[in-house]
Amino acid sequence: MTAKFDFARVTQTTVRDLVEIFGPSGVSVDREKVTAYSKDEVALHLWDKEYTADVVCFAENTEQISDLMRYANDKKIPVTPRGAGTGLSGGAVPAFCGIELSLERMNKILEFDMENLTITVEPGVVTAEINKAAADHGLLYAGDPCSGDASFIGGNVAENAGGNKVVKYGPTGNHVLGMEVVLPDGSVTWFGGKRRKDVTGYDFVHLMVGSEGTLGIVTKIILRLLPSSSFVVDLLVPFADVKSAIKAVPAIMTEGKSIPSSIEFIDKQSMLLTEEYLRTKFPFSNEADAHLILQYEGNERERLADEIEKIGDICLKQGALEVFVADNRTVKDKLWKGRKSVAEAVWAHAPIQVSNEDVVIPASAVADFMRELDDICHGAGVKYAAYGHLGDGNMHVTLYLEGETPGWREIIGDVRQKLYTIVIKLEGTLTGEHGVGLKRAAYISQFLDDAQIDLIRRVKLAFDPNNILNPGKIVPWE
Ligand SMILES: Cc1cc2nc3c(=O)[nH]c(=O)nc-3n(C[C@H](O)[C@H](O)[C@H](O)COP(=O)(O)OP(=O)(O)OC[C@H]3O[C@@H](n4cnc5c(N)ncnc54)[C@H](O)[C@@H]3O)c2cc1C
Repeated sequence: MTAKFDFARVTQTTVRDLVEIFGPSGVSVDREKVTAYSKDEVALHLWDKEYTADVVCFAENTEQISDLMRYANDKKIPVTPRGAGTGLSGGAVPAFCGIELSLERMNKILEFDMENLTITVEPGVVTAEINKAAADHGLLYAGDPCSGDASFIGGNVAENAGGNKVVKYGPTGNHVLGMEVVLPDGSVTWFGGKRRKDVTGYDFVHLMVGSEGTLGIVTKIILRLLPSSSFVVDLLVPFADVKSAIKAVPAIMTEGKSIPSSIEFIDKQSMLLTEEYLRTKFPFSNEADAHLILQYEGNERERLADEIEKIGDICLKQGALEVFVADNRTVKDKLWKGRKSVAEAVWAHAPIQVSNEDVVIPASAVADFMRELDDICHGAGVKYAAYGHLGDGNMHVTLYLEGETPGWREIIGDVRQKLYTIVIKLEGTLTGEHGVGLKRAAYISQFLDDAQIDLIRRVKLAFDPNNILNPGKIVPWE
């Protein structure tokens, strides 16, 4: 199925109409502002052209968004929702100009329900504020993307964000019970609610989760909270070689007889760049080719200590050089600041000639993937830094070139394609948590067959027959 769409441009009359909806302080055509809101964290030089909206609007409530969508649908003007703009796939980048819709002013925690163990929030609440609010009530919100200090919960829902606790608790979608949504024609509906079970109709909650702002605009979210553990211990485990670190994971899970809340991986290059970026040192950064970060939780101190000891022994048996236990706030904070800064550290080192990948490999094939990645990068003279959520097989690979290399786009593009070919051979997939967005839409047909791509287009058009909500994302359109 292909479909052609003719979109209208924003005119002065449109801007006047938008001011009617949002008020004068809710609309801006200031070029600097509009340009800033038309970006996310994908490096600008990766785009083949400049993508800038005509106008940015700042919503304060559901009614305004409903009015906007009714208007935009009628006039055939594209609308691109935007959270905090920390996305890594160009999801919030306006592929066809039009209206950029910022959700940043919808930033209230609306309700804490201690009986149902839920929190209801607006989409512009920063993820870490939800973690903190839950912790203040002795509860856990288990969503934990590395960008959590900046990203919004609406963006997390739209991308089905993963992060550091997925191995035990699952991605954002596992914590979403219900949501209020404005559909592309302006109608407002609720999918799900505070109920723990619900098979009344299709599971629209989990169709919306990960739909990258293409099916509707999420305006309220009900999240599941969990009891929090009394004690949390983090381990930093250096391994001499990458293969031993990867092969340790199944032993940690099976012989350890418990699921850690985190199994994170940092290769040597990522570790050295992070040290340089944060001006700090981590143990064995020169000797180890890979570090794992493991996190364990429990309610009984002694029992947790025994468990940690057992896990330490398993790691040493699997070839770990040492096992460091972070059991106080200062050491923990340093460790997680390190992990959460890896991406920025790599980009600070290689800001231009770069591509960030987010592939997922079945656990049994991650070691093969890393070996083949090393081979192709060496063969092409391209450097890489690899890190990520090893417990989920989700590897972030940043391919980069140092210095000024003529033809760097082609060189990096060629390695990127070879990397995808390996991922397909190993039965992995294109993206685990950053999304397809604009950045990867041209590659999706290598990973999904025609029947599925056609189905994606038909679902999109069932929600949005005029294709005005975030067009140009996930699958290619004519
Ligand atoms: C340093 C760094 C570390 C990161 N670490 C992780 C990580 O560990 N795990 C992970 O999963 N991601 C990670 N990311 C990627 C990014 O933070 C996530 O994708 C995050 O969920 C995006 O949220 P946002 O609010 O910034 O969304 P934006 O970038 O603004 O938008 C993302 C998408 O969501 C849509 N959208 C936003 N709000 C709404 C809404 N209310 N309704 C409908 N659609 C909406 C947009 O249209 C867009 O398609 C990282 C990014 C950076 C820069």
